[in-house]
Amino acid sequence: MGPRYCPSIEDKIVRFAHKESHQLFLEPEGWQTTEVYLQGANTSLPEDVQWAMVRSIPALRHAEIMRAGYAVEYDYVLPDQLHAWLETKKIEGLFHAGQINGTTGYEEAAAQGLMAGINAALKAQGKTPLMLGREQAYIGVLIDDLVTQEHTEPYRQMTSRAEYRLLLRQDNADLRLSHLGYEVGLLPKWRYEAVEAKRRAVQQEMERLKVTNISSANGTAQVLADFGLEPIENGVNALQYLRRPEVTYEVIASLVPPPEPLPEPVAEQVSIETKFEGYIAKQQQHVERVQRLESKVIPPDFDYDSIGGLRNEARQKLLRFRPATVGQAGRIAGVNPADISILLVHLERRGEKVGQA
Ligand SMILES: Cc1cc2nc3c(=O)[nH]c(=O)nc-3n(C[C@H](O)[C@H](O)[C@H](O)COP(=O)(O)OP(=O)(O)OC[C@H]3O[C@@H](n4cnc5c(N)ncnc54)[C@H](O)[C@@H]3O)c2cc1C
Repeated sequence: MGPRYCPSIEDKIVRFAHKESHQLFLEPEGWQTTEVYLQGANTSLPEDVQWAMVRSIPALRHAEIMRAGYAVEYDYVLPDQLHAWLETKKIEGLFHAGQINGTTGYEEAAAQGLMAGINAALKAQGKTPLMLGREQAYIGVLIDDLVTQEHTEPYRQMTSRAEYRLLLRQDNADLRLSHLGYEVGLLPKWRYEAVEAKRRAVQQEMERLKVTNISSANGTAQVLADFGLEPIENGVNALQYLRRPEVTYEVIASLVPPPEPLPEPVAEQVSIETKFEGYIAKQQQHVERVQRLESKVIPPDFDYDSIGGLRNEARQKLLRFRPATVGQAGRIAGVNPADISILLVHLERRGEKVGQA
């Protein structure tokens, strides 16, 4: 199976047979060369067909092909052969990242390379591996998908694969992940402290706004008019007022300025967290519900054969994938909620170690 999102021209001709035309881009390969990359026509058709195809394009009728197109076929490690920290199950101490795990793409490869590197280093230091949750980072979604789902084509990460997109935002990436970077020794202390200072500044400002009222008296109407806003009838709480879609933090800062002007990233965060607070809180509650399952660790040598009542398909899948947590077990295709209930009962009954994932 080829990667779905970069189909070859022979693929496109079948998939988009109804199209009248197809765009190709001539990309110069560099300043010092006359070579051009024919973008949009990647192919592994026989060489004579490639010549005929290129020469059939009027603008390219005299073109020479320097190197014919080709396809690469590669093997990959099946998801049930990988731990969630990217160490292979068969060979302890061997970590895999990127295309060898069945993904395609620069970002996918880079993200896994980072995690495999971190975890190899942690292992060498005798520390517990770092696993990111689906609610914590897109990398968490990527790796969780990789180790719990069977793939029939090269895996590409789409934002739509994440269920907690309200939490996984660019604007809060520093607040979400810096402490982990610092803990594993990748982020210098000053960077970590700067992020924590930002977190405190955001909280402080939100607390100030919570107890600050904007009066409808003197000057307020003029400031609002300057921003093109309607006057307010009665006094209004500053935090509530900021929730209104048309009100920016700049308006608030003009009406009830903080003791010191806020740096732009802090003001942005105050604004986002205030405006979306209700939705974010709702998603957070959902995460907490799911996390109760996610935090139930299944020991790597858990004896699934000893559980009566588990459907055979589920048993086979669980034995094959050996999920690290009950949450992961629930996402394996072929394991249903009833199987999870049985698994939970057994984990608890046997007093298996239940800790944080
Ligand atoms: C033509 C083309 C266009 C692409 N375009 C895009 C794109 O636009 N966007 C996108 O996101 N992705 C694109 N991809 C996919 C992306 O390049 C790959 O998925 C990604 O680079 C894979 O990274 P990796 O680290 O897993 O493997 P690689 O980048 O292949 O790295 C593997 C490395 O291992 C080395 N190696 C192999 N064997 C040995 C050995 N025995 N000893 C030591 N070293 C060895 C290789 O030399 C290589 O450097 C494209 C791929 C191709 C081929």
